[in-house]
This record gives sequence, structure tokens and C-alpha cells, in this order.
Amino acid sequence: MSAIITAATVLRDPMSHYPNLLEPLDLGFTRLKNRVLMGSMHTGLEDKAKDFPRLAAYFAERAKGNVGLIVTGGFAPNIAGWLTPFGSTLMGRWQLPRHRLVTDAVHQHDGKICLQILHSGRYGYHPLVVSASAIKSPITPFKPKALSVKGVYRQIDAYVRCARLAQKAGYDGVEVMGSEGYFINQFLVERTNKRNDEFGGDYSNRMRLPVEIVKRIRQACGENFIIIYRLSMLDLVPRGSSWDEVIQLGKAIEAAGATLINSGIGWHEARMPTILTPVPRAAFTEVTNRFRQHVNIPVIAVNRINTPEIAEQVLASGQADMVSMARPMLADPQFVNKARAGKPDSINTCIACNQACLDHTFTKQTASCLVNPQACHETILTIEPAKQVKSIAVVGAGPAGLAAATCAAERGHRVTLFEGSSEIGGQFNLAKRIPGKEEFHETIRYYRVRLEETGVDVQLNTRADAGMLNQFDEIILASGVTPRVLNIPGIDHHKVVDYMDCINQKREIGEKVAIIGAGGIGFDVAEFLLHAGHSNSLDPQDYFRYWGVDLDQRGGVENTKPAPGKPARQIWMLQRKTTKPGKGLGKTSGWVHRATLKMGKVKMLTGVAYQKIDEHGLHIHIDQQDQLLEVDNVVVCAGQLSVTELLEPLEAAGKPVHVIGGALLAAEIDAKRAIKEGTEIAAAL
Ligand code: NAP
Ligand code: SF4
Repeated sequence: MSAIITAATVLRDPMSHYPNLLEPLDLGFTRLKNRVLMGSMHTGLEDKAKDFPRLAAYFAERAKGNVGLIVTGGFAPNIAGWLTPFGSTLMGRWQLPRHRLVTDAVHQHDGKICLQILHSGRYGYHPLVVSASAIKSPITPFKPKALSVKGVYRQIDAYVRCARLAQKAGYDGVEVMGSEGYFINQFLVERTNKRNDEFGGDYSNRMRLPVEIVKRIRQACGENFIIIYRLSMLDLVPRGSSWDEVIQLGKAIEAAGATLINSGIGWHEARMPTILTPVPRAAFTEVTNRFRQHVNIPVIAVNRINTPEIAEQVLASGQADMVSMARPMLADPQFVNKARAGKPDSINTCIACNQACLDHTFTKQTASCLVNPQACHETILTIEPAKQVKSIAVVGAGPAGLAAATCAAERGHRVTLFEGSSEIGGQFNLAKRIPGKEEFHETIRYYRVRLEETGVDVQLNTRADAGMLNQFDEIILASGVTPRVLNIPGIDHHKVVDYMDCINQKREIGEKVAIIGAGGIGFDVAEFLLHAGHSNSLDPQDYFRYWGVDLDQRGGVENTKPAPGKPARQIWMLQRKTTKPGKGLGKTSGWVHRATLKMGKVKMLTGVAYQKIDEHGLHIHIDQQDQLLEVDNVVVCAGQLSVTELLEPLEAAGKPVHVIGGALLAAEIDAKRAIKEGTEIAAAL
């Protein structure tokens, strides 16, 4: 298949653009081919032996993509360290054959891979949890048992056994997970460690656990084995580690024999987002930079690094020696190869939405990626050259249509994409305007380049009709949705605005606003109106101020307060149901959206009946009383209806029509489903 890349997308000399990113890293006994670490991500495939062939295929794809070093998802060294009952472990020789599938697959493509050893401590979702002290975490239901001194040494032995087994299985090294609030972190800080024996009290005692683990792994596994230590540099919880303690630990871990130190940012119980899309790119690399000056081994920067340009900046400015990218490698396994080829605009960028990766992991589904449904499904969703070339019409250039058109064209079909408006992107053109969702620009850019590369005939400003579509062998209807129009007296009043006009700024919006509907779009509109054009997701300093982060304070949050500033508008958000507003939002993002609206003093009203809209505002009935919300505008975010008017005439003409995305199901328009359906149908034609 010929790839058409515009001059604008091609960098003439990639090495001159990413010289630091693509530079090998010499670790003495071994050499990494570049500075990209694929960070640890639990995919769910680690938990069952039968899924290891899939896990191997997933890693092989990233090794083929020339990632410098891969780290697996977390494996517990024993049952007490389980994340979930019967979750991933490496604790016995009987488990070695399945791991060899993984290491062989990676080595076959000249890659390198480390196994992450993760002991959950009190974060485990099972009754056998252990920790430094018997203090339950605020985010899990089980109170841990406090370990005896002997018990602590048994855990250390388990780490060492796990590392030895990893070495036997062919891993190039291990990463010891010492951050995000897991077992090791629980020993480091007084918040969770109330002991007064050799593992409690003074900091030198509290840090004994990780230092012993690293020292003993080095002794057991020899010099030619990579040991990465993931060190919690900024806990983002009260009574976390002070900066002096972080440095003291870093030096001791280096002396104990670690090869690399990876950065850890924020415990899981931290009450602010650390990787989600509203977090500015590379927001935390300054923390790594400060740390790096105190040790002599290479240090890795993490969190919200998602483009080669950002990664290069972090390395070029001397903030770190390597960059960790976990989710970006789900989104595009060819990230490094594309950067090397000087085609950064061809990269399918991770938009940090968490919708198909972490949200899946936390709801016990296999992880994947919203923008790349093949992730973790490499052996299930395959894209092969078409056996018979067909002419295919795709109607609608939203996420579903874009995925279908580019995938079908990649397979060799002749594809025409019809779009009624003047731009591609569909609902993503709304999302990209929401403060904190700027990353959606990248997905539209990716598809724009992909359409060119795959040679799709794009017909903008063209409303396809049944007559035009008759000539095609197959028709994919991705014609999307239209906002639901409500049947409330006064719905035609000039105060009423639909969400599209609001976000597209086609109407002036006053200072007092009622939003009808508290679903995903209602939350987006509230966010849009609160910030009045200013987004704290673009500048780390704004973000730190907003959430109350001060790098000079213990844990980054001791004695600090969020400072969200004065909201641009007074907002009421309403729904008829009595359930929690935003109940359907993502597991890892819903709480962030609710927190930001709370900080913006948005009033949430549930169990509302709408009566009428007039000059005075929105009249509602709530708590058995009539109430008037004296608002300047009412923005309607009450869901959508599918646009399918072409379906009937096409079916009547006997054409093969495939309906996908919002056109198929408006009740749950969802970019993840849309892109997956588009890719699946195109892969099958
Ligand atoms: P939605 O999530 O289904 O919410 C629609 C809202 O409108 C509900 O609050 C509903 O509440 C209300 N509503 C429905 N029918 C109504 C009627 N006849 N009269 C008055 N109110 C009515 O739809 P959405 O907000 O448009 O979002 C659509 C999809 O986009 C969602 O499924 C979501 O997956 C996706 N999305 C997600 C995000 C995200 O952050 N993850 C952001 C944007 C969009 P009551 O019925 O209780 O009144
Ligand atoms: Fe990134 Fe979203 Fe894909 Fe996760 S699902 S890898 S956050 S784009």
C-alpha cells in the first residue's frame, strides 16, 4: 500500500529533530537502543495463563516498534501482594513457560523487557492484605494485617524469589514498584507506618524495606541484570515523604545497586488527577529534574509525555535520561519508528482519556485503547489486505466514519468518505474545544494524515444521497447524531441554546446558566462555561495552583489548598433522575469532572421536573416545590437521536449497508465504541 505523506508531515532529518530521544543509552553491561521506556500498564492479560499468547503478541508489536525498554504490568511476588484475588503473580517455577512466551516474543524483535514486581500491600482487593500497620486505605475495602518483623523479611524474600524467577524466564531485568501508594510506599511514610521496630520510626528504618529489596535482588541476580526502582518522588497525599527523604532514599537505592530510577507521581488515593487529559503535558518532569541532580544513575521522567516533541524537550533540557510512555504505546506501537522516520504527524496520539485502558482495568475488562482498538487484541482484531478490492462509501467523517474509511483503504479498498460539513472530526470537533480535552485535536490531525496516507477520496461539504451511493459495492453509514429537541413550553425562547451552538460559540451566553442534562455533554458544557476560554490544562503552573500543589511542601500538598479562582459563570446543572450526576462517566475520570465542577460552585439539582422557560428563566419543580432559576440562558444537553434517514432508501434498493457509531445507537454515543465498530466493520469487508 502506498503511503502518501504531505511535505508538511515529513521532517527532513529526523535525527536532527529527536537526537536525544533516539540516542542509545549505555548501561555498561547492556545498551538500550533509545531513550523510550514503555512504562508498566496492567492490561488484564497478565492474570490468566491462557492469555499469555495474547500478552506476548501485544509486547511483540511494541518491540517491533523499536521501544528502547519495555516494562510489563505488575506481577505480585506472593499471594499477600495480589492486586485482586488470583491476579498476576510470579512466584513459582511452574509459571516460567508462560513468561518465556513473552520474553521470546520480545527478544525475537531485538527488544528488551523487564518484569514489574508489584506488591499491593493495603491496596489489594482481597482479605489477605498486609502492610506496615493495620490502617485501611480510603480507596479499598480491606483492612490490612500489620506484618511482624519476620513477616516483613518473608516479603523481601518473595521479591528476591520473583526477581530470580524473572531472570530464569528470560527477562532483561525487573522494575521494583516503589510508588503510587503500594506496599513499599506504605512503609516509607508515617501516614501508613506506625511501627517502632527496625522497619518503623526514623526514616532510615522506614526506608529499610526498599533498600533491602534492591540490595538482595542485586546479590541474587548478579551485575548483568537491569534493576529499575520506581521511586515515589511526589506522593500528593498529606503526611507523604519530604523532599529530603526522597533524596535520601534515591541515594540509598543507587548504593543498593539499582540500574535506573523511574519517577512515581501521586498515590492512587491522591485527590487530584496525575495522568488524565486535563493534566498538562510533562507537568511533573520538573520533579524528576530536581531529583536527577542528586544521583549518578539514569533517571526516567513520567506522566503525560505523549509526543516525540515533548519527549525530546524533556531530554534535551536535561530533565531526565529517559522518558516513560505507557499509554502512548497502547495508542501507537509504531511511535518510535514513526518518530525515527520523521513522521510525527502519523503517530496515533494517546489523548489520556483512560476510557479503554485504565477504566477497563478497574472494571475487570481487558485493557485496550480508545484510539487503537487493536491494542491488547492484536491476535483478535487483525487487519489484512483485502482478498477482493471493493468500492466502499463511508457516510460521515466522525470518529466511526474516519476509523472505517482509513482501515478499509489501508486494506486496499477504494474508499470515498462523504461529510456534510466543511471539516472532518464530527463530535471530536466539540470535544477539542472543552478545556482539558485539547488532546482531541491530535486525533483529528492523526486521521487527517491517515486519510492522505491511505488515499481515501474525501468529499467535504457533501451530503450524500441514496442516488449517489448506489454505485458503491458497500456502504458504511456513520452519519452520527443530532441533539434531542425537548418538548418543554418555551423551548423556542431566545434564552434556549443547544449544546452545539454553545460550544461552537455561535451564541453569546450570559452569566447565569442552567444546563438541562447531566450526562457527559452536560459536564463538558459546564466545564466550557466555567473556564471562559482559559484552560489550566495547558500550563503546569496553572494546574499546580488550581489543585494546590507546591513542590516545596511535604508530599507536594502539606498545608496547601486548591485555588480554582473565581468561576466565569454561575451554573446550575439539572437532571430528572435522582441518581448521582455524571454516574455514567468513566471510573477514573468521573470523580475529576465532579471535583472540578464542585470547585466551580456548580449547583447540581436532581429529581427535577421541567415546567417552562420564559423571560424570567427556567421554571422547575423540585422537592415538591415550584422553583424559578433566574438564568440568562438554558443550554440543552439532553442526549441525541440517531441520524439514519439514508438507511431505508438504501435497504429498499438492496444495497449492503452497515450502520455504526451514533447512527447505530444514539443513547450511548461513545468514541471508543465508534472507533472500534468502524475498525471492525472495515476489517471484515
Ligand atoms: P447522556 O449521557 O445520555 O445524558 C443525557 C442527559 O440528558 C441525562 O442527564 C438525562 O438526564 C437528560 N435527558 C435525557 N432525555 C431527556 C429529556 N427528554 N428531557 C430532559 N432531559 C433529558 O448524553 P450526553 O450527555 O449527550 O452524552 C452522550 C454520550 O457522550 C455519553 O453516552 C457519553 O458516553 C459521551 N460523552 C462522554 C464524556 C466523558 O467525559 N466521558 C463527555 C462527553 C460525552 P435525565 O433523563 O435524568 O433528565
Ligand atoms: Fe490513551 Fe485513551 Fe488509549 Fe488509554 S484509551 S491509551 S488514555 S488514548
